[in-house]
Amino acid sequence: MLSATQLIHSIPVDPLTGAISVPIYQTSTFVQEAPGVNKGYDYSRSNNPTRATLEELMAKLEFGATGLAFASGLAAIDAVVKLLKSGDEIVAVDDIYGGAYRLFTAVYEQYGIKVQFVDTSDLEKVDAAITPNTKLIWLETPTNPTLKISDISAIAKIAKANNCLLCVDNTFATPVLQQPLLLGADIVIHSATKYLGGHSDLIAGILVAKDEQVGARLKFFQNACGAVLAPFDSWLVIRGIETLHLRMKHHSRTALKVAQYLTTHPAIAQVYYPGLSSHPNHELALTQSKTGGGIISFSLVNDTNEAAVELVSNTQLFKLAESLGGIKSLISHPANMTHKSIPVEKRRAAGVSDSLIRLSIGLEEAEDLIADLASVLDSIEAKESSDAYATSNEY
Ligand SMILES: *Cc1c(COP(=O)(O)O)cnc(C)c1O
Repeated sequence: MLSATQLIHSIPVDPLTGAISVPIYQTSTFVQEAPGVNKGYDYSRSNNPTRATLEELMAKLEFGATGLAFASGLAAIDAVVKLLKSGDEIVAVDDIYGGAYRLFTAVYEQYGIKVQFVDTSDLEKVDAAITPNTKLIWLETPTNPTLKISDISAIAKIAKANNCLLCVDNTFATPVLQQPLLLGADIVIHSATKYLGGHSDLIAGILVAKDEQVGARLKFFQNACGAVLAPFDSWLVIRGIETLHLRMKHHSRTALKVAQYLTTHPAIAQVYYPGLSSHPNHELALTQSKTGGGIISFSLVNDTNEAAVELVSNTQLFKLAESLGGIKSLISHPANMTHKSIPVEKRRAAGVSDSLIRLSIGLEEAEDLIADLASVLDSIEAKESSDAYATSNEY
């Protein structure tokens, strides 16, 4: 696994000036000595030195041949789908990021690309979904928001046996915790908006291909379609990566403490966190990932919209917001936020119950976060027991 020293010293000192911080080349074009004679750069959509530093850094951290930086995570996902053509099929994890679901179905089905969503934590289901037209398997592990774990090595073998590519969305784990290319995947993508950037101050995407040929095709799409990451935002992502190791360690340690606390509270029905031994795939999670990560979900005994809304509206430190991976802890209610557009029955069947709540654990002290949750959970619990008492009195 990647050490903090390795990570920090993978970020180069500027060879031209010795600047210890990567320079921002805020330029659109590069002056040529003669037509076609340049210093490796001609136009910033095609290549920019600041972006190139980020791209090479991510290729190193993920152990791939080619890294590419995009204007958003979805733009990186979009470039991968462009490897396919009409008639090809994708087998994707059913608990997939909503934006990827929309891209696969509402955009690419128009062009004749079919997608099947399956529970990829069940290898037999992955095997059964593959047809001669399957060209791409798409995983997220852990998934959002129910933190399901899929076996990357085993699915890489299935992909190989069927001549298709395996792409893993590694946004939740980051290369500090999990390196899918070393487990047999072909492509890794990230929403760098989350942990890589780490400060909730940008939108960015990263793609790393294991193989140079696949990397060259993806690089072609990056330039041909144009959704590149700007120089300043590339620099911000590099600066975020400088502390990635430290942050992931702290997020993970705190998340484990908060998850353990949540399992003890009487108002809580279920806690979803891969770092807990009660997680159905806890052992697999810890063979392919260093920790359980910084995201926790849980559901309430009072499995209602109202109880969840009361909780998410009354925490002080946990801020009510979508997204994850920043320094401040965030709380969200998928049924009312990220998963609102999914029909109720379909959402519940996917394990996203009415009261499911997702936490992104920030960099605050564990005790403070636990106290914040405790004050609201205790009041929900007190209300429930007094309601039960009132009901039994009436009876
Ligand atoms: C946020 C997210 C994306 C999309 O990334 P953007 O930067 O918002 O375009 C993709 N996958 C996962 C797992 C995410 O959390």
